[in-house]
Amino acid sequence: MFYISTRGDAGASSRKTFTEILLGGLAPDGGLYLPESYPRVTRAELDRWRGLSYAELACAVLAKFIDDIPSGALKALVDKTYTAEVYGNGRDPARAGEITPLRWLEPGLGLLELSNGPTLAFKDMAMQLLGNLFEYVLANRGEEINILGATSGDTGSAAEYAMRGKRGIRVFMLSPHGRMSAFQRAQMYSLRDANIFNIAVRGVFDEAQDIVKAVFNDPGFKARYRLGAVNSINWARVAAQVVYYFKGYFAGTRSNDERLAFAVPSGNFGNICAGHVARMMGLPIGKLVLATNENDVLDEFFRTGVYRPRGTADTWTTTSPSMDISKASNFERFVFDLVGRDPAVVRELWGRIDAGGGFDLAATPYFSALPEFAFVSGKSTHADRLATIRRTWEKYGVMIDTHTADGLKVALEQRTAQMPMLVLETALPAKFEDTIVEALGRRPERPAATEGIENLPRRVEVMDVDADAVKRFIARQVEGV
Ligand SMILES: *Cc1c(COP(=O)(O)O)cnc(C)c1O
Repeated sequence: MFYISTRGDAGASSRKTFTEILLGGLAPDGGLYLPESYPRVTRAELDRWRGLSYAELACAVLAKFIDDIPSGALKALVDKTYTAEVYGNGRDPARAGEITPLRWLEPGLGLLELSNGPTLAFKDMAMQLLGNLFEYVLANRGEEINILGATSGDTGSAAEYAMRGKRGIRVFMLSPHGRMSAFQRAQMYSLRDANIFNIAVRGVFDEAQDIVKAVFNDPGFKARYRLGAVNSINWARVAAQVVYYFKGYFAGTRSNDERLAFAVPSGNFGNICAGHVARMMGLPIGKLVLATNENDVLDEFFRTGVYRPRGTADTWTTTSPSMDISKASNFERFVFDLVGRDPAVVRELWGRIDAGGGFDLAATPYFSALPEFAFVSGKSTHADRLATIRRTWEKYGVMIDTHTADGLKVALEQRTAQMPMLVLETALPAKFEDTIVEALGRRPERPAATEGIENLPRRVEVMDVDADAVKRFIARQVEGV
């Protein structure tokens, strides 16, 4: 299995193996990595896979993407990742071993629970595997990595909980001082592992992000301190997410003759990109329902063919904050497939994006081909979230978070009697307490392990918006002086 860039040519020299792209971010030409061709699953494989546990299924699916880690080693890494201990936050102890239990709300409409990991959001599903893969590959090469990132909430905590205590890895995570939810702050800052460094920047998220960019733009510093990233464009994260589409499909259907729809709360297009890959592999997904919040760049594209990223100043701050994006960083992967995998077309389109513009495919054959890819979309607002959270609580006695509510709102619009629909639950309500209180007048329950985390001692370095100060801090920690 070789990987190519969405902007490159498929010549032998630019082909990479899985472990070669594991620790990197963008391809050198600025594109994103994708398999040279999607591995296909046969009907016989689907029949065999239906009865597998999550870890067994993950091995089977990931083996199709990873052929440069020996299968015994891959199995050990996967087995250590997908356990009832890691994905059992106490919500339903009897089902913790299922990793991603399916909860039917009513016949034909279910929630696929992806938030049972340590940080209560779906990003744990992939990030926990990434932590174990990184540690394994670095140990084999005798290398170290210093992960640098900025977070507005879920990504940073998922990365820290995945990398804590891992050999050869340090994490430097910038967050906007005082701007994340109290729960998110407590979750990150209460980690006291020696390899985790929280940096709270006196500024907004974009300023933290700009510092990260500035540090990465210093090639000397980047090489000297072996900087790496774990952002959502990392291919291994997408690959790990493919697994739960298979698991959800088997849980939601009785036979491999049925088709199933998935509704996915979307921001950077990472989660739903994995659904697209699963469908391209041959999983009988009948519909991929993309849900956005008020930041609706993706909904606009799927309805009109126009992709028009907004400036950060035009990005709304909403009550489903993990979907507050102005540019969907994984979207290029889908467009590569949509334009027949022609890197010249992607280069041309993203040339316009990188220059601050957009593109319009409405009058092209690509847009006419869109229905073949099974995508539909919709958007949800703050009022929709409140109404959906309320309705789900009253009708089913189930409390959902704000992002999942966006997904469910659009799922209900797109649902048909012929095809069951699973909404991907992307976080637990405990993470977004204020909006739950606004919707329901009561506080969400918390998994026992997170009870009282606000009162734990914290380890966080507060800094001004100053890239040089961040560099000095990293240098001091790495050199131990
Ligand atoms: C990250 C995140 C999303 C968006 O996922 P993408 O992969 O960026 O589309 C949705 N909901 C929650 C809770 C998240 O943390």
